[in-house]
Amino acid sequence: LSTRASDILTSLGISSTTEASGVYDGKWGGSGELMQSVCPTTGEVLARVKTATPQELHEALEKTREAYVFFRNIPAPRRGELLRQIREALGAKREELGALVSLEMGKIRTEGVGEVQEFVDICDYAVGLSRMMNGRVVASERPGHSILEVPNPLGVVAVLSAFNFPVAVYGWNLALSMAAGNATIWKPSPTTPLCSIAVTRIVSGVLERNGIPGAVAGLVTGGKDVGSAVVESKDVDLVSFTGSEHVGRIVGKTVMSRFGKVILELGGNNASVIMPDADLSLAVPAVFFGAVGTAGQRCTSTRRLYLHRQIADEFMGRLKKLYASVVPGDPLDSATLLGPMHTKDAVGIYHNAIKHLKEIDAEIVTGGKNYEQSPLDAGNFVQPTIAIPKSVNPTDQIWSTETFAPILNAAVFDDLEEAIGWNNAVPQGLSSSIWTRDLRNVGKWIGPSGSDAGIVNVNVGTSGAEIGAAFGGNKSTGWGRESGGDAWKEYVRWSACTINFSDAAPLAQGVSFAA
Ligand code: NAD
Repeated sequence: LSTRASDILTSLGISSTTEASGVYDGKWGGSGELMQSVCPTTGEVLARVKTATPQELHEALEKTREAYVFFRNIPAPRRGELLRQIREALGAKREELGALVSLEMGKIRTEGVGEVQEFVDICDYAVGLSRMMNGRVVASERPGHSILEVPNPLGVVAVLSAFNFPVAVYGWNLALSMAAGNATIWKPSPTTPLCSIAVTRIVSGVLERNGIPGAVAGLVTGGKDVGSAVVESKDVDLVSFTGSEHVGRIVGKTVMSRFGKVILELGGNNASVIMPDADLSLAVPAVFFGAVGTAGQRCTSTRRLYLHRQIADEFMGRLKKLYASVVPGDPLDSATLLGPMHTKDAVGIYHNAIKHLKEIDAEIVTGGKNYEQSPLDAGNFVQPTIAIPKSVNPTDQIWSTETFAPILNAAVFDDLEEAIGWNNAVPQGLSSSIWTRDLRNVGKWIGPSGSDAGIVNVNVGTSGAEIGAAFGGNKSTGWGRESGGDAWKEYVRWSACTINFSDAAPLAQGVSFAA
């Protein structure tokens, strides 16, 4: 293993020579199939990870249930204090963990560290929440009665996460789930097991030091089989799934068929609309970051660009200049803006999309190939691409599917209604962005006839979000909400509780049932 990789692993207590344990339920284990973690930048195998067997998964779920039965009775502000300590422990390893994200997932260093910061931020948020997860007192129509809406801990929460946010997505879920009094079990992406092991080591260290069962935050690594077994298990009360629409559809149906709860955070196909009055000095770099950042592998990446005819040439000219300035490289190098695609499969998806663009006679404005010079040829480096398809029919496959790669499709429009129509014509509804200084455009964009996405930005790109607002998308993105806002309300079991403190027992609506 390269020194660079082994230093990062060692700094997080992961041995680079032995097989890493990928199961934690209070103690570390795993004797299932071995999984490899491969560095997308160099192709080197970073570690081999021991995954969960079906029996180990079953045991881990039992331990998680027991941990929930214990944890639900810990007062919420005490749970908040644990989250405060987790926040401190994560903060102390922010740089190391951020570097591991870059090493294993491939995103650039500032974004890797940013993911850990997001986990820290949501812990802060959840510490506050632990004193504010309030129910309500509702006015009763009956004298001497009170109605309370009471939130209680829900049970076992399973988090299934995608490769592209191997730390933050778990953070959003764990923080709310713990504050709410649940036990959480994490099934991370099979290609980022080391991030999940490093995070679980940090979190479990805090739990163990406080005498809390480790299975309050358990881990089961594995592939599709482990994922489906978790989703099918009646021992799991809430499945929080982040991933593709294809798998999300299976997960959603499976959980609904056993009447479990499910949060779906699925694919995005996000558009930026540039009006003639947009400040291009802000809009062009924002689109550049949205489309090229994380090598186009964010659920909120900008994939569609709708340019008003008046500024289309000027915008495209400036954007092309920025694309030409991109120098790909090692994501751990702080000067790098473009890292690799996460896997060889992802490179295949990119090339299939380019092939299709060529077949439909789209103009490839820039990009369309791998970077082939050494040392980039050892990794999964592809050129960020801008294409102008001939057809602007947004229901065509090229516009309507999420291609998880740095490909931006552009088209020219003449009025805002047309652009909003195109924005909304796709199945997905995650993020969207308009660039304008005209208040009338803003009103239309955020109003009833405006963007139908879960994230509707003005003079802010599609990509990246803060933890304070509820995060999630509509339509085939799955309607789930995580992180801030009212998202915590999904992680509790609500009861309506009518209390009669009078000397009579009247029925509601004046119903009479006297014998
Ligand atoms: P994926 O759907 O391939 O995998 C996601 C998870 O599901 C992994 O842990 C995987 O092991 C597991 N899995 C696979 N098959 C399963 C099955 N049959 N049953 C249960 N679990 C199964 O997604 P990916 O390629 O890792 O991630 C990329 C996708 O995630 C993109 O579509 C992206 O837009 C989406 N994403 C969405 C958000 C969001 O918040 N909306 C955030 C990040 C990523």
